Amino acid sequence: MSNGLDKEAVANLAMKWNLESIFPGGSASAEYNAFRDKLKADLAAAHKSFDDLPKELSSSSRDAYRTFILEFQRIASHVECAYSMADCLTAQDVKDSKALDIFQEMDVLVSEYNNLETRLEAFGKKQDDNEWAALIEDGELSRVRFYLDELRRNARNKMDEEFESFANELAVNGYHAWNRLYDKMAGDLKVDFVEDGKTTEISLGQLASKMDSPDRSIRQQAFEKLEGAWETRADYVTMILNSLGGFRLTLYKHRKWDSPLYEPLVMGRMKRETLDAMWRAVAKGVSKLVPYIEAKKKLLGMDKFMWYDQTAPVGKSDRTVSFADARKLIVKHLGGFSDEMAKFSDTAFEKRWIEAENRSDKAAGGFCTGFGPIKESRIFMTYLDTFGDLMTLAHELGHAYHHNVLREDPYFAGMYPMNLAETASIFNELLVTDAALSQAADQDEKLMLLDQKLSRAHVLFCNLHARFIFDSTFYAERKDGVIPRKRLEELMVQAQKEAFGDTLDSDGYYPLFWASKLHFFLTGIPFYNFPYTFGFLFAGGVYDRAKKEGAAFASKYRNLLHDTGSMTTEELGQKHLGVDLTKDGFWEAAVDRMLEDVEQFVELAR
Ligand SMILES: [Zn+2]
Repeated sequence: MSNGLDKEAVANLAMKWNLESIFPGGSASAEYNAFRDKLKADLAAAHKSFDDLPKELSSSSRDAYRTFILEFQRIASHVECAYSMADCLTAQDVKDSKALDIFQEMDVLVSEYNNLETRLEAFGKKQDDNEWAALIEDGELSRVRFYLDELRRNARNKMDEEFESFANELAVNGYHAWNRLYDKMAGDLKVDFVEDGKTTEISLGQLASKMDSPDRSIRQQAFEKLEGAWETRADYVTMILNSLGGFRLTLYKHRKWDSPLYEPLVMGRMKRETLDAMWRAVAKGVSKLVPYIEAKKKLLGMDKFMWYDQTAPVGKSDRTVSFADARKLIVKHLGGFSDEMAKFSDTAFEKRWIEAENRSDKAAGGFCTGFGPIKESRIFMTYLDTFGDLMTLAHELGHAYHHNVLREDPYFAGMYPMNLAETASIFNELLVTDAALSQAADQDEKLMLLDQKLSRAHVLFCNLHARFIFDSTFYAERKDGVIPRKRLEELMVQAQKEAFGDTLDSDGYYPLFWASKLHFFLTGIPFYNFPYTFGFLFAGGVYDRAKKEGAAFASKYRNLLHDTGSMTTEELGQKHLGVDLTKDGFWEAAVDRMLEDVEQFVELAR
């Protein structure tokens, strides 16, 4: 480039993703429009061809069913692709109303797709075992055998088809409506926040980021405003939570599911023993966090550790990392473990798969989404040159690598459960954090890095465990009737006492936490708490192996990621790590590993 301006222009372009190569023209894209129209037509045709298929599997209908299932799979990957595009379009410009309309269109497509899946489930459940085995035994279907068997097994634990579809239809305006109502309520809540002598009205999302402030009075104010805002809605939220929980329990009763954990465990492809072993190890490890919390209190001059101190930052780094340097650093650190991972990440930058520019019209947060049919991913975030942004970038690149490992597989073989979804992302983070720690410029930066690791462990061990305990006791009591607000608060405080142990002051509990945390209201995913802790510890276990075996582990790691979509969590642990996830040993070691920095932190804090 001939002058500085050109250089800047090139740098700016490098921070913007290329969606044009997927569908040119943004939300008004004719190609994207045609893609969705075709999908609509394909779905209708698939329903029609399912109507016309013989009602039973036999040697004469086998081939027709194979063809149908492969088409169903192709449609699934195209639905995902269309959805990913809508996600990207709304994220890059929240004011793009055409993109928002596309979401409504997608909702219809997704529900048509779900209906087709329900029909296939119901069909599979009725077929003879031998005929089913013959169907999925050979050819392309054998590659997605795990998915198909799971589909059939799950259908066997549901009600009859007509009841299931009736329940699904009722859920749209019943069950899921509670979730939408909650989201609307949370979205509309605003508070007046005072900072630097100025009062501004902010949303709860903006309020949440104030809880990470280094200024304790800001954190405290944020917490009090949050409490106050939900206090005004607590009676309504009590109704929502009770109704939603009641709906779930009624459905479970008719499906003959004896535990509210049945559904989340099926979704996580894991056993109850595994979950119990994990939480036992976590509970055992919490006391080891006490010296860390005590040291943090001293450093920050606090006499008590309150709810709003959970993500208080310690230490600091004045170092900024430009986007171009982040690329170099990430590629270099990943390269120390795997050439392939380094090259892949570098290519993601090169091909402009990453949207990182700082613009006011962008959505908050970060994500990585896959475009299966073209074997590409896109990463969304806002990069502001901080260390946290560097970590987000590394995290999302881990997701993209995971997609890449699965790119040649049939779509159904790449559908991994949410507890394994964070394996590659957290693995990347751990790799980059450790590299950064070994090169920390000074004590302050080192403290900051160690604190980030440990405060994350604290949240995942205590805060998430409290949510799990609350959910468990909530469902146990909800069976006997509606739970009044005061009792919900008691259950929450009880859960926090148990989960936090001595790492939270006895004045520091947050009784209304059940009202302010959106995860308790997600109807799509019940008990959306343990997958976070699971992912963190599992990724830590994998990373530990990588540290011990070095670059030799890179191909094993790749194979592990490759199998995340086609076996149970326990089988994955056994096959690739040689561990039994139902036993406490793996989890205790994983917890200890995540806490091994406590001593160093305490030492440095002195
Ligand atoms: Zn992630």
